[in-house]
Amino acid sequence: MSVSENDCIFCKIARGEMDAEMVHEEDEVLAFKDIRGLAPVHVLVMPRQHLASLEEITQLPEPVARRLFEVSSEVAEQLGVRESGYAVRVNNGPDAGQGVFHLHLHVLGGKHLEMP
Ligand code: 5GP
Ligand code: ZN
Repeated sequence: MSVSENDCIFCKIARGEMDAEMVHEEDEVLAFKDIRGLAPVHVLVMPRQHLASLEEITQLPEPVARRLFEVSSEVAEQLGVRESGYAVRVNNGPDAGQGVFHLHLHVLGGKHLEMP
């Protein structure tokens, strides 16, 4: 395990060393509620594999990359916002305010969402 994986809070969630309110779990992809929900539905979808940013996406097997989006859609259905709509967002790098350097998709819904 690399130093970054050892310290990464989302790797700790993936390893079960830290609690999270799980919405969906499977071999390569997890979905859990954001600790500071910004909308009635605010779920984070991530690969178990540690990738610091979108720039490392080529390290992720293509079926897993695809699965991130499929799980986002499934979570939206599960939490009742598929019809009303939802946003899927990646904050990448300083200007986007990325705070956790383990690639994840925010799934936001349950209210009207505007582009920043
Ligand atoms: P980003 O890196 O995409 O800008 O933001 C990271 C997101 O992770 C934030 O929305 C923050 O509230 C969430 N977050 C940070 N630490 C934890 C944690 O320990 N558990 C959960 N469930 N969410 C977290
Ligand atoms: Zn990680």
